[in-house]
Amino acid sequence: MNRELYGNLIFELSKKGRKGYSLPKNEYGYKTSELPQNLRREQDAELPECDELTVVRHYTNLSHNNFGVNDGFYPLGSCTMKYNPAINEEIAAIKEFAGLHPLQDVSTCQWALNIYNDVQKALAELTGLSEFTLNPCAGAHGELTGLMVIRSYHQSRQDEQRTKVIIPDSAHGTNPASAAVCGLEIVEVKSLADGTVDVDSLKEVIAAHGNEIAAMMMTNPNTVGMFEKRIPEIAQLVHDCGGLMYYDGANLNPMLGIARPGDMGFDVMHINLHKTFSTPHGGGGPGSGPVGVRQGLEPFLPTPRVVFDEEQNTFTIHQTSTIASPSGGRSEGASHPSPLGSIGNFFGNFGVVLKAYAYILSLGRENIKMVGPLATLNANYIKESLKDLYELPIKGECKHEFVFDGLKDKSTGVTTMDIAKRLLDYGYHAPTIYFPLLFHEAMMIEPTETESKETIDAFIQVMRTIAQEAKENPELVKTAPHNTPIGRVDDVLAAKQPVLTFKQIGARD
Ligand SMILES: *Cc1c(COP(=O)(O)O)cnc(C)c1O
Repeated sequence: MNRELYGNLIFELSKKGRKGYSLPKNEYGYKTSELPQNLRREQDAELPECDELTVVRHYTNLSHNNFGVNDGFYPLGSCTMKYNPAINEEIAAIKEFAGLHPLQDVSTCQWALNIYNDVQKALAELTGLSEFTLNPCAGAHGELTGLMVIRSYHQSRQDEQRTKVIIPDSAHGTNPASAAVCGLEIVEVKSLADGTVDVDSLKEVIAAHGNEIAAMMMTNPNTVGMFEKRIPEIAQLVHDCGGLMYYDGANLNPMLGIARPGDMGFDVMHINLHKTFSTPHGGGGPGSGPVGVRQGLEPFLPTPRVVFDEEQNTFTIHQTSTIASPSGGRSEGASHPSPLGSIGNFFGNFGVVLKAYAYILSLGRENIKMVGPLATLNANYIKESLKDLYELPIKGECKHEFVFDGLKDKSTGVTTMDIAKRLLDYGYHAPTIYFPLLFHEAMMIEPTETESKETIDAFIQVMRTIAQEAKENPELVKTAPHNTPIGRVDDVLAAKQPVLTFKQIGARD
């Protein structure tokens, strides 16, 4: 864009007296002078003054500085940046859905509750669990909710010393963060060279902390894209010591309709609808992190709950759920309200739930099983096509994503950061970099199932070109990006001395 004309900030474009609006006539007869004196400004607010076309161009140009799945390939590992079909948006935008109010009488929105209930049921079916709540608004929010469910379960059994959570060292950072927020202690378990959980290390942890273990959190396929083959054995060990198995379902994509966490021995899980179920995400939301539980744990789910009343043939909303104390508890046979209550605003993000519903129905029972194999094929194709030039620390078949550890040729001095920046010059979003922390130059690539072979081939070609550039002209890569609106930022300085205010220079002359 032409920065002189359209500016970085709308304030820079301001010219005194320019206007892009006309207010409607005051039809109600109020006078501004009726506002109490102490609420009135002494001086006009310093707002930018621009004509309409300048405003339109400014924001249109700003939008071109953005990058999303609709702009190009976005192989951001762990984030499942698949295409978000336009039909999802059309469905969510239907006036009757968008206009719902969370406090309206249930008799006036039975159809919406029906859909809500359908999604809960579909997720239960896809995961092999008993019941879901759609109330949590993000993956991390789901983790916290799931851990609170687990905690409530142990407390209901007077098993209150269970305050430790086992988490593999490869886990997503939200796992230990959620456990800490829930007031639980983290016990780390090591990974083997192939990236999977070291069961011997787990046995040691259990021997040391057995009756204090509340749960083990696992991601499968794990964060380096490997399928954890020893889950039945791991689940047995954790269950035998009295703990529950938590499944971080943010990586459900390659398993969708093929393998179910409930069948593997998991008790509680969350799903990221904004990832696997194709609702747009990034930049802070909106998201949805439904939590599912196996049979017996339903009463510990948070409220409100949408429940079908078979006698009345209507959907109702339960504001409290009642737990019958399991046998062994101090007050056997007695019941008390679910300790969790509400974990957020009303029922979560219904718009996201609707988009996931549209996605599930448009794929259907058969096609949904194609998601995982195609995502897996795409990831393995990229991995195998680049492993002669990029260091592949964990070999063998991956699932939906994999990790490179920088360039194979370390003599060029070109880092993962340099490669990520150079990719921007070629019009690609960078992969996830420097995560997981298991490798120094980690570069985590997740193509998803929605990319064509042509797109993937073009990406492979660009990655090969960058490796060549690193050898022949490393400076070019080390100083990238060269074609973006902003060049390389000093991210240490940006983090340590952020400039959070804008100093207006000559904008109001
Ligand atoms: C994305 C992700 C999360 C967190 O989900 P948010 O919606 O970003 O809170 C947790 N675990 C894994 C493995 C993830 O990929």
